Amino acid sequence: MRLLPRLVPVDAGELLTARQIFAAPSYAPRMQHFICVPCALPAAAEGSCARCGDVLLDARRDDVRELLADIDSRHRRAREQRLLWLSIVLAFVIAAGLWSIPGFWAARRYYFALPLLLDQLLMIGLVSFAMMKLTAKLFPARPRFAGVTGSE
Ligand SMILES: [Zn+2]
Repeated sequence: MRLLPRLVPVDAGELLTARQIFAAPSYAPRMQHFICVPCALPAAAEGSCARCGDVLLDARRDDVRELLADIDSRHRRAREQRLLWLSIVLAFVIAAGLWSIPGFWAARRYYFALPLLLDQLLMIGLVSFAMMKLTAKLFPARPRFAGVTGSE
């Protein structure tokens, strides 16, 4: 009796990554070439959106896909901008918390003071950078038209 599965050589080019499998869900057949921009809903036939009544665009056209990718990238940039401001505010809150710790300023003078509070500015900059990276990791952007434009 064979207890261990036989090792079969697999052509690595044929393997799908989990990302590819999730990017092509079975409930969104490739026949749905039309898309509603406000709802990001795919549709099989030309006409108007079943939900909002807006005109459907043909996603087979290059200019339509370009438009959708453009909308996605604009949303992504706006989102990054919001995350950046949020990170800066959070970094200031953390810095203010440190400053209120008794003995912090004395320790700072002794260990790592730079002129013009540069050390504190550097700290805030580094913390906000780390926060931005962390929030981007924790809450990844989901492009609305990823299925159509092929972008992630
Ligand atoms: Zn719609």
